[in-house]
Amino acid sequence: MQPSFGFDETRENTDLAFTDPLTGLGNHRRFFDKVDRLISDRADDPAPFTVGIIDLDGFKPINDLFGHKAGDDILIQVGMRLRAAMDGHSAVTRIGADEFAFLYPMVFSEDAAAERARMLIEVLSAPYDVGERTARLSASVGCSLFYSGDETTEILVNKAETALYHAKRSGRGRVVVYTREMEEAAKRVTRIEQALRRAVSAGEVEPHFQPIVDLKTRRVVGFETLARWTDRDLGFVSPVVFIPIAEERGIIGPLSQLVLRKATEAARSWPEELFLSFNLSPSQLVDQNTGLHILAILERTGFDPRRLEIEITETGLMTDPASAEKIVNDLRRCGIRVSLDDFGTGQSSLGRLREFQFDKLKIDRAFVSSILEDRPSEHIIRAILAMCEGLGMDVVAEGIEQEAQASRLIEFGCGGGQGYLFGKPADADATLGYLRDAFRGARRVGA
Ligand code: C2E
Ligand code: MG
Ligand code: MG
Repeated sequence: MQPSFGFDETRENTDLAFTDPLTGLGNHRRFFDKVDRLISDRADDPAPFTVGIIDLDGFKPINDLFGHKAGDDILIQVGMRLRAAMDGHSAVTRIGADEFAFLYPMVFSEDAAAERARMLIEVLSAPYDVGERTARLSASVGCSLFYSGDETTEILVNKAETALYHAKRSGRGRVVVYTREMEEAAKRVTRIEQALRRAVSAGEVEPHFQPIVDLKTRRVVGFETLARWTDRDLGFVSPVVFIPIAEERGIIGPLSQLVLRKATEAARSWPEELFLSFNLSPSQLVDQNTGLHILAILERTGFDPRRLEIEITETGLMTDPASAEKIVNDLRRCGIRVSLDDFGTGQSSLGRLREFQFDKLKIDRAFVSSILEDRPSEHIIRAILAMCEGLGMDVVAEGIEQEAQASRLIEFGCGGGQGYLFGKPADADATLGYLRDAFRGARRVGA
């Protein structure tokens, strides 16, 4: 016998094209069909209603850990729990691998929608039986409300997706109900995305360079490349804003290649002992072509790979550690050095320092900026330095702004430093000027 799920399904259930075979719930088509019908029912009666999308947090690792059979069992249990949580008016369907959608025809306000969604998360948070073991899951939910006859199912679902995206970004187990401000933020992101695409193809993103020094002697040992973009209409846009957008919207590859090409062209005329450091984004550590692209650029610009350092963050290693490890190993085999950026702020795991080989570690600015006032920061920095010494890694402290911070770091045995105290990021010409002064008399800079 077919299980029962919500309103008027005896007829619908017979239609396999509308059913998810694993959970017996309706599928994506069923969901769209139900919302379409409700929208036309409400044509003369403008009462709001709610749709929502549930995305399981951390389902993939569970699937990997317990196996696909167990993953399927969990999805079936999720389906049963959700179905049991629906009242006679409401419906729930499975619309993706670990995505479920619900329709609450009688939920009329944002507060009520959020409350109902929180209840579903609660229901899904209880442990799941997986053979002898149990597993735990959480879920994120995005909701949107139907207010006017102008809205189509697609618009409503897109809004719920946008809300879900905000929920996921703010952590696990969250509910977000779609708002106008979200729409404004989404529009701004799209404007930046379009302007950035144009700027990248027109070659308008520029590398700036910030000196990295030997703390004791104050000699420059290399520069970190930092992308800079000033748009014709938007003006200056910070990398803190455009880099994440470039990542999300799939522009990071071409952007990164453009900046690396310009940076290595500029660095060719620097004294040979200076290295060039370059940031890679997390999504680039999932793409096995990253290494090839980097090497092709070095080949074309004639920049020695042994003078290049790649900076990656712990977040970058987490998405797909095996893929990241392969890319890191390929780069290191070519003589490129690899450093761990922003250490201490991300989802730090000391285990990763065993699994991956890094040549250098960069201590995050957050610790350096509080080193003078804050005992814990001081202890953390000392512990990091001791650890790096044991592991044979170089260290650079980031964000040094005051002499007193530099002295304290030297006292603790920190070798390298970077920060406004030694120089702000500057464009290629200004950097060449800086080097001419710094290396005056020693040798000719910029042949
Ligand atoms: P990051 O790699 O940790 O770079 C250091 C950031 O700290 C830079 O910010 C730099 O300007 C800033 N900074 C350096 N010294 C000081 C200081 O003394 N005080 C203060 N307050 N700040 C200091 P920026 O240039 O805004 O870049 C932000 C982040 O954007 C970078 O953090 C990096 O993660 C990312 N980014 C920049 N360029 C690129 C790029 O070409 N590719 C990728 N994937 N990411 C990039
Ligand atoms: Mg960096
Ligand atoms: Mg950093």
